[in-house]
Amino acid sequence: MSRLLVIGCGGVASVAIRKCCQNSDVFTEIMIASRTKEKCDALKEKIESTTKTKIETAKVDADNAAEVAELIRAYKPDAVLNVALPYQDLTIMDACLEAGADYIDTANYEAEDTEDPTWRAIYEKRCKEKGFTAYFDYSWQWAYDEKFKEAGLTALLGTGFDPGVTSVFSAYALKHYFDEIHTIDILDCNGGDHGYPFATNFNPEINLREVSANGSYWEDGHWVETEPMEFKSVYDFPEVGKKDMYLLHHEEIESLAKNIPGVQRIRFFMTFGQSYLTHMKCLENVGMLSTAPVEFNGQEIVPIQFLKALLPDPASLGPRTVGKTNIGCIFTGVKDGKEKSIYIYNVCDHQECYKEVESQAISYTTGVPAMIGSMMVVTGQWKKPGVFNVEEFDPDPYMEALNKWGLPWKVCEDPELVKVWKANED
Ligand code: NDP
Repeated sequence: MSRLLVIGCGGVASVAIRKCCQNSDVFTEIMIASRTKEKCDALKEKIESTTKTKIETAKVDADNAAEVAELIRAYKPDAVLNVALPYQDLTIMDACLEAGADYIDTANYEAEDTEDPTWRAIYEKRCKEKGFTAYFDYSWQWAYDEKFKEAGLTALLGTGFDPGVTSVFSAYALKHYFDEIHTIDILDCNGGDHGYPFATNFNPEINLREVSANGSYWEDGHWVETEPMEFKSVYDFPEVGKKDMYLLHHEEIESLAKNIPGVQRIRFFMTFGQSYLTHMKCLENVGMLSTAPVEFNGQEIVPIQFLKALLPDPASLGPRTVGKTNIGCIFTGVKDGKEKSIYIYNVCDHQECYKEVESQAISYTTGVPAMIGSMMVVTGQWKKPGVFNVEEFDPDPYMEALNKWGLPWKVCEDPELVKVWKANED
């Protein structure tokens, strides 16, 4: 029924691809294209005997829009699923426009070289205007809206778990549970244990940059910025138990503030153990999280990329990770004149995921929604010209698909609410 071009063949991609292959009625043909073609071939070899989906592979440098456009013209997909890195978002969007294909991703654009003076000037202006200093924001991709409209193409941004499922939960809560949503607390809990003193569950470069940056939240129409890990809380997660969590900046706050009318406050919290935080602080203090190239023995190296080479490959954590994730949103607001609160969440078991797709739950909880978002677009359920975040579409078919494809969700009425304090007052 449809042809999907998947760009990237890392942790998230391998889950998204396997899920597409479980859903052969929708994804009759896919092409896996990435920088290292051997990885695409290896995955194809592993799964092709288990699926009716016809799989092809190709090598592509997604930093090169013309090369991606040429591949789109040759393969003629209905849509392109970008599960490479956020650095490639704009080149892949350009290629989709040039060659005529819908676009889907899981993370908003981030510049690879944050020292680039042209990028830096735009970034500094944005920091002043908007009031948050994260290196990533939606302005770059939202600026493509007119172009996608003119081309009659759909761009669906951020269909991972967070952003992605958490944003669909927000649209669903607004549609079925509230007349007005006042606050949203997004909680991302990983209760898994991989047994290493330090490792990241997805791409270390993206993960460490996100976590070591300033935190921020949205309140009364503006951003409030915090120091990194300044605010802490402890939450008793259903099926996982009590975990420390910290307030972070996160990209869906920006789109939900725009798309959930009247919302007064949006915060994002992620759980971290003490060992992770101590290692990260130490690596940051010695400069290992820097993206600025340094000379070493006559060779130029980027510290965070070198660190990535030393750390365990996130894809290798699958067999050794045990425990569960619990990710969801606590909403407060009003329905029929009465105040109410609910928690919508999913619990995912690392070992169950590994048994099914040979990945831990972090890649699983991103890869499944990447497939579902692609399905919404290629089946025409979520298709209109322009650039959209997931909460702008009808949440019902997506919520149904979550239950069907491995990420069932629950609604808890009147949940424990989040109490926050300064981490240094602990
Ligand atoms: P990985 O590093 O495991 O995989 C990235 C893949 O992209 C690799 O196969 C890599 O190739 C390929 N790639 C990188 N650069 C290029 C390029 N220039 N051209 C072609 N291919 C390229 O990352 P993850 O799978 O962990 O993450 C994938 C995406 O998912 C990221 O954008 C990440 O931010 C996002 N994400 C979103 C989440 C959400 O909930 N919304 C949660 C987690 C991740 P090679 O194999 O050669 O290195």
